[in-house]
Amino acid sequence: MINVTEPFLPKREEYEKYIDQIWSRKWLTNNGPLVNELELQLKDYLQLDHLLYLTNGTIAIQLAIKVLELQGEIITTPFSFVATTSSIVWEHCKPVFVDIDEETLNLDPRKIEGAITEKTTAILATHVYGNPCDIDAIAKIAARHKLKVIYDAAHCFGTKYKGKSVLTYGDVSTISFHATKLYHTTEGGAVVTPSAELLKKMSLLRNFGFNGPYTFASVGINGKNSEFHAAMGLANLPYANDILRKRREDSLQYDDMLLGKIPVRRPKITDGSVYNYSYYTLVFETEEQLLKVHKSLEVNGIFTRRYFYPSLTTLPYVKASEVLVTVDVAARVLCLPLYYSLNKAEIDMISRYILRTLKYG
Ligand SMILES: *Cc1c(COP(=O)(O)O)cnc(C)c1O
Repeated sequence: MINVTEPFLPKREEYEKYIDQIWSRKWLTNNGPLVNELELQLKDYLQLDHLLYLTNGTIAIQLAIKVLELQGEIITTPFSFVATTSSIVWEHCKPVFVDIDEETLNLDPRKIEGAITEKTTAILATHVYGNPCDIDAIAKIAARHKLKVIYDAAHCFGTKYKGKSVLTYGDVSTISFHATKLYHTTEGGAVVTPSAELLKKMSLLRNFGFNGPYTFASVGINGKNSEFHAAMGLANLPYANDILRKRREDSLQYDDMLLGKIPVRRPKITDGSVYNYSYYTLVFETEEQLLKVHKSLEVNGIFTRRYFYPSLTTLPYVKASEVLVTVDVAARVLCLPLYYSLNKAEIDMISRYILRTLKYG
């Protein structure tokens, strides 16, 4: 059986080296030494000035909305994981969906201004599959209308835009280190911001709002992560370059085998970026072709994922809105297996099944 993804695991003894430290210190959580070490190493690896390690990427989005004190309407993308939208609703704001660009599958900046009202306070956009949004266009619109910008950069470990980590853009960027992401800490996430003030506030928010042993600065939450999660992150980080390199090679192998031979295309990578090959996504010409491929692979024990499907405008707790490109594209995208232990013969086999299915029915 080949799954669409498989979590990366480091050598067990490398993980256990950190676990032994936890046992001898008996310090399991609450901003322990491994969490501190992981934050330092991640800052160094990703070339960031600051980063706050959190329980997960969803709490990261919620903290971002909270710290910016957003109210009213937030313009967002219907083509993302559910947490992008649910976080907005959880924070008592209203998601206003703007359609995506057909090529990049990211929020279409040309359609943002038409959706801005006097209640709009922010734009929350996802760098879909780790591919940067049109950051410059979004920054201009935000400045013109005095809106905050949050990037859900959950997929963006290792992605760069104009020579810097893509996490450095926007008022706050969030990332996920969930087990299914290319770099993970089992569960985990982080926020990044260029603002020292927001950073300080979020560091209080993640720890119940404590600003002294018995005093509180604000309504906080428990957003801190444990030494065990940091241990996984520390054990995984030395493999990050190798993971990124391997995903690129695998993606190029799929490209070689599939592109130009069957009616499929790939999302367009944004100019000025160094892409991390987070997912291998095909956009089929029709949903019927997608379903055929999905089914024939499944019969052979190969599991693909319709990601993202369906459009977030279909969630039961949001107002229905018309996003024609998203509805159309979401019905035609399929993510193929892509993970560290996937080998060349397997990619070859998966590709051949796809070619055969589309060529000969
Ligand atoms: C994974 C993901 C999240 C949520 O991250 P968790 O760490 O699982 O909470 C949010 N947004 C996107 C786009 C994601 O892919």
